[in-house]
Amino acid sequence: MKYYIKTFGCQMNFNDSERIKGMLQTLGYQEAKDWKEADIILINTCTIREKPDQKVFSHLGEYKKLKEQNPKALIGVCGCLAQRMGFELIQKSPVVDIMFSSFNMHQLPELIQQAQAGYKAVAILENPPDDEDKLWDYPTVRDNPYCAYVTVMKGCDKNCTYCVVPKTRGRQRSRSIESILKEVRDLVSDGVKEVHLLGQNVTAWGKDIGKHFSELLYRVAEIDKVERIRFTTGHPKDLDEGIAKAMGEVGKVCEHIHLPFQAGSDRILKLMDRGYTKEEYLEKISMLKEYVKGITFSTDVIVGFPTETEEDFEETLDVLKKVRFEQVFSFKFSPRPDTPAYSMEGQVPDQVKTQRMSRLLQLQKEIMGEVAKSYEGTLQEVLIESIEHGNKLIGRTRSNRWASMEGGVEMLGKVVKVKVIRSYPFNMECELV
Ligand code: SAM
Ligand code: SF4
Repeated sequence: MKYYIKTFGCQMNFNDSERIKGMLQTLGYQEAKDWKEADIILINTCTIREKPDQKVFSHLGEYKKLKEQNPKALIGVCGCLAQRMGFELIQKSPVVDIMFSSFNMHQLPELIQQAQAGYKAVAILENPPDDEDKLWDYPTVRDNPYCAYVTVMKGCDKNCTYCVVPKTRGRQRSRSIESILKEVRDLVSDGVKEVHLLGQNVTAWGKDIGKHFSELLYRVAEIDKVERIRFTTGHPKDLDEGIAKAMGEVGKVCEHIHLPFQAGSDRILKLMDRGYTKEEYLEKISMLKEYVKGITFSTDVIVGFPTETEEDFEETLDVLKKVRFEQVFSFKFSPRPDTPAYSMEGQVPDQVKTQRMSRLLQLQKEIMGEVAKSYEGTLQEVLIESIEHGNKLIGRTRSNRWASMEGGVEMLGKVVKVKVIRSYPFNMECELV
């Protein structure tokens, strides 16, 4: 029996898919290279913007052909779109046999049994069930043997007015420190060198269980074989001095942070309910630079939030100029049903969003070109993750930049020192030293 999983969305969804693969392999399934060979197809969905929603339905249209060759094949939809749409999704696409949200992933084995017996197997709940921690008993199946994601919390307690996540993933639930450390120990004994702690608002980890995120950093770093630690996504409001201090003190924590600011205008930030001003965001950046020598930054930005004026947008560009991010993930505002921003007055026409977006991309392209140049001639530490054509090693620097260099297969999984010869916005050509 074979499975095929198609994943949309953020790293959390990718890590959920790795866990689902682990569950399916525990049940005796193997991964199919192509969906046409599969006995079960699952689409792990994202509904953060409108575009990923549409993609799910076009994939379902294609995958339903599987049932013509293999009438017993099962098709499932899970993740955020499943949670948001519920039964409406099955009504719209009756080819779906199994549907569950991120609250119910641990129920997949029962759902498969129900679907095999000919029923529509649906597990969508309003709130997370008490036994959702059963999920952590299953292994993950990863493509990268050296770097692994570890989900440390579910849900989000913020209420950003544009965002569906609190609805689709529920309130914040921090995973216990013991459960996280156990997974990290298992991963490193399996050869993993770098762990990437994941949560929608990872800097708030622990607030619901009387703990602080810095403690998690210190404790993960105590595990001998862990060589590098990263985390995503930080929220500026919860990023406090304790976290900055821990990042500086724990040598295993990489000098990089993804810290979305979303907008530069205080008026827009207020409408978004982000809980900070532009000035406060920039102060957090200064604090991080003070505690963490050489730290680099990446961010997320939303362009064209309702009522955004030219002056507001200029404030966003100003943050880009001041911080000089290594990378910016920019999104045109997409009104999501059941969020406050969906029905706000002053929706910005798509043409204006597109035009502002292209100006933002142009500015960021220039900044990234200059940032890239500043790496030339420097020494960097790279964890080698893969090899191409037998001698091209590929890895990431501590500052989260891709680097390639000549070398042999014996370097895979090793942390090496390199000199940067040429540097481009998304890649650097280096030499081993
Ligand atoms: N929790 C993270 C945070 O607070 O920054 C981000 C979570 S979200 C999966 C990733 C990014 O999608 C957000 O940072 C935001 O820039 C973008 N996003 C979320 N909702 C959006 C919407 N309705 N329209 C456009 N972009 C959106
Ligand atoms: Fe969404 Fe805001 Fe939570 Fe991020 S912090 S997941 S943007 S509600």
